[in-house]
Amino acid sequence: MQKLQAKPASVKLFQKNYPLVEKDMIENSGNLKEEGELFTISDQKGGYLGTGYYAIQNKGIGWILSRRKDEQIDQLFFNKKVQEAADYRSSLFNSEETTAFRLFNGEGDGIGGVTIDYFEGYCLINWYSKGIYTFRNEIMTALQHAAGPKGIYQKKRFNEKGQYIEEDDFVWGEQAPYPLLVKENGVQFAVYLNEGAMVGVFLDQREVRQAIRDRYSNGKTVLNMFSYTGAFSVFAALGGAAKTVSVDVANRSLPKTIEQFSINGIDHEAQEIIVEDVFKYFKYAARKEKTFDLVILDPPSFAKSKKHIFSAAKDYKDLLRETIHLTASGGVIAASTNASSVSDEKFKGFIDQAFKEEKVKYRILESFKLPEDFRTAPAFKQGSYLKVHFINVLK
Ligand code: SAH
Repeated sequence: MQKLQAKPASVKLFQKNYPLVEKDMIENSGNLKEEGELFTISDQKGGYLGTGYYAIQNKGIGWILSRRKDEQIDQLFFNKKVQEAADYRSSLFNSEETTAFRLFNGEGDGIGGVTIDYFEGYCLINWYSKGIYTFRNEIMTALQHAAGPKGIYQKKRFNEKGQYIEEDDFVWGEQAPYPLLVKENGVQFAVYLNEGAMVGVFLDQREVRQAIRDRYSNGKTVLNMFSYTGAFSVFAALGGAAKTVSVDVANRSLPKTIEQFSINGIDHEAQEIIVEDVFKYFKYAARKEKTFDLVILDPPSFAKSKKHIFSAAKDYKDLLRETIHLTASGGVIAASTNASSVSDEKFKGFIDQAFKEEKVKYRILESFKLPEDFRTAPAFKQGSYLKVHFINVLK
């Protein structure tokens, strides 16, 4: 096993359970050869700090797996971690209302670089580095013990740019129906486990969707920007929205949104689904003097369309300014970002700035972070990437 030495300035971080090993935290990282190899990290005096594995991912060169010198990284280790993760989600496993959730959340469950989602008996593993992929047999065996899935799918998210590798994602057991119907708080979603990088639903917004259905939609006009498969629109419609308008630039969003409405018994023709750049839609809506009672904003952290580059870190404030124009007096903006480079403090700063520049008063009604199944490591703040605020617009 490789023996790495921590730089003096990073010893404290490791002692505080920081799970990511970054290149500039280590004196002799050049010794690492093969992704997946194990190493121990010590301080200058040889004092043990942790055991980890080598993996190139974003800023990191590996993840700490154990802080006990005598702990072996073997099949038993993986069994224990995945079993603990499954036990932590036992109420979700037993739920009849929700059959899709995150079963294993990387460093939050003790193994950085891998997540596992559970969809009505089928599991989807996301591998974020070549390094973690070398442990695939151990992790799949552990998963079979802990969750007894009918079938397993995977997404390799580690090409040169750290992105998804297109291939057949089915790896074990029985193939899932196509589409696979799952439930979230009693609402159906059509999920496609073997159709590219995304499956049709982002599980981390479960509590936000529930809030939209239960507290923000009844009798309201709802605009869902960056709507993808229309998940927020479906919850709004089921919550009694007078009408929903879903806007997304991707062509796939039209058939996908029709499907999500239809499987929930909602007449999609009574809703509006618009395939268009949201920035164009803002202009159109301004011309027509349209306003909405609830506007949902859930942009990607970064996106390039024909005319626009949107980066949450740079452009969210302006996105909010345009949204304030479209929001009815007394209405609500549900503003969400998953950009890990934007802290909640910074995000609230954008909100404040946007309202100041528009000379409009506001009040934050409630806020959301990741739900409990997206377990995070307390020492790794970047892992808690989701920030959502429901903002009352007081024009
Ligand atoms: N809110 C969605 C998830 C959004 S994913 C949900 O709850 O499921 C981000 C979406 O933004 C993608 O579907 C992408 O097609 C869309 N998108 C990116 N740039 C866009 C733009 N300029 N205009 C409209 N949609 C855009």
